[in-house]
Amino acid sequence: MADAVEDRHLKLTGEFDCDATPLATLRHSTSHVMAQAVKRLWPDTKVTIGPSIDDGFYYDFARAQPFTPEELERIEGVMREIVKADTPFERSEMPRADAIKFFRDRGETYKVEIIEGIDAPTVSLYAQGDFIDLCRGPHVASTGAIKAFKLLSSSGAYWRGDEKNPMLWRIYGTAWLSQEDLDQYLWRLEEAKKRDHRKLGRELDLFDFYDVAPGAPFWLPNGMILVRELEKFARERLDAQDYKEISTPMLVNKRLWEESGHWEYYQDNMFQVEVEGEIFSLKPMNCPEAAYVYRRALRSYRDLPLRLSEMGRDHRNERSGTLTGLVRVRQFTQDDAHLFCRPDQLQDELTLLLDLVRDWYKAFDLQPSYKLSTRPDKRMGTDAQWDDAENALHESLRSNGLQYALNPGDGAFYGPKIDIDVSDALGRAWQIATIQVDLNNPERFKLEYIDADGQPKRPIVIHRAIFGSYERFIGILTEHYAGAFPTWLAPVQARVLPISEKFMDYAKVVYDRLRAARVRAELDDRNEKLGYRIRDAQMRKVPYMLVVGAREREANTVSLRPRTGEDLGAVALDRVVADLTGEIAARSATLTEGRA
Ligand SMILES: [Zn+2]
Ligand SMILES: [Zn+2]
Repeated sequence: MADAVEDRHLKLTGEFDCDATPLATLRHSTSHVMAQAVKRLWPDTKVTIGPSIDDGFYYDFARAQPFTPEELERIEGVMREIVKADTPFERSEMPRADAIKFFRDRGETYKVEIIEGIDAPTVSLYAQGDFIDLCRGPHVASTGAIKAFKLLSSSGAYWRGDEKNPMLWRIYGTAWLSQEDLDQYLWRLEEAKKRDHRKLGRELDLFDFYDVAPGAPFWLPNGMILVRELEKFARERLDAQDYKEISTPMLVNKRLWEESGHWEYYQDNMFQVEVEGEIFSLKPMNCPEAAYVYRRALRSYRDLPLRLSEMGRDHRNERSGTLTGLVRVRQFTQDDAHLFCRPDQLQDELTLLLDLVRDWYKAFDLQPSYKLSTRPDKRMGTDAQWDDAENALHESLRSNGLQYALNPGDGAFYGPKIDIDVSDALGRAWQIATIQVDLNNPERFKLEYIDADGQPKRPIVIHRAIFGSYERFIGILTEHYAGAFPTWLAPVQARVLPISEKFMDYAKVVYDRLRAARVRAELDDRNEKLGYRIRDAQMRKVPYMLVVGAREREANTVSLRPRTGEDLGAVALDRVVADLTGEIAARSATLTEGRA
């Protein structure tokens, strides 16, 4: 998402390319009102650009010092006055040369620069009251239409996104069609802050970051449990669909990247290393090496489809300023696979794959949505190949009964694709998975199979990842569950709490039973009050606490307390162990223990 905003920012010629939905129009109009308020308070501040973005808007201002939180409040106050005055937005046109003079006279040098970059005889302006801005529109009819808004934060941003340019000060805000929507959004923001995976990652000892390795996590023992459980989950499903797992080198001679085309088109994103006078690179993706594995043997039409999976550890040279926790990293592990098939198998492969994807996300209570991107203007391959590939994608979506959006022209030059977003517990969409048909890779690597007629033919390659990357997916899951992972994923699944040290013997019996059943259990025998230890287990989001005292020892039971805070009372130890192992084996999304 940040990418798209940044791209638009860079491309801006002064005419906002905002989408014209009512909400985007409202938000963009609110940015004009904010600019008006800023100019009213500090007339020397220069205005630059102010588009609508996902969930809100921003405006970049040129002035010496950043905006303080108190200043944001003052700006909001003036904005409310402007809204109350209900001034109409009025459109006018001006010859380009006049507009340059108009803004130069007002000292708005950034606007002058923008207009100088516009190749048109006239430009359009919008005024509300004493404020006039260069803009293509559209806007709401008058400032009174802006009902529910809030300024959120301020940060530095370079003019045109280029660090060689002056630093501007950006104010972010949000605006909604009703107060109710705004309240809901602010609640989600608060909740998202509490769920921030960087914060939870540290609190729950999942992973950490150190500045010696920007964009690459240090996985801690608790976090590695998540990685290992997800790997196990993935491998079980892939084995069932007859995938073959491979693992290919990370550090690879540039000759491979020249063969694949990455050297020409992707070099800037690759880390390079000189070894014995030759250039090597850390792989940014796994495709070329999967092609090597395919090519090492003579393949017959009967060998296909061949599904090669790889937990591919990749590196991409993302700019340090864009790195964000686990969701934007330099080093990541893709749950990658390359499916090599005959053209007549493409449809079935895609259908099977979408079935897998659907089942996969269901296990995490994530709601997927599908987008199909079709042929761009510049592309390789024949129209017939594209027809077949696009039809196969359409049909596989339909046969799985999946709704999908269409993105005409948005496919890669080498083939159409399905992108999959998931929406989490807060309703936020994350783009994680992709299924791409590749017509180019087999051509470039001269991949072949011997067909039934004895002739060599090119297979089709499908690239796909379902978690996307383990790093990003675990970041998303951590926020989705607010750190309270379902029992099968939880680093610690149960904690045994003796009421006092008198019951240590029995607590040890319970603990040993759990460990023997391969439940990840801990025994909290600290010399602390029971209430303190219960709160601590809740803070650590341990699914179950098993409290034991005299009565429990007597009856061979435990007092069961899920992390949600209820007290489910005494349950027979045998049953607790059986139910808990059952819940874990079923990878249940909810805590079911003691509720049957
Ligand atoms: Zn505008
Ligand atoms: Zn690939």
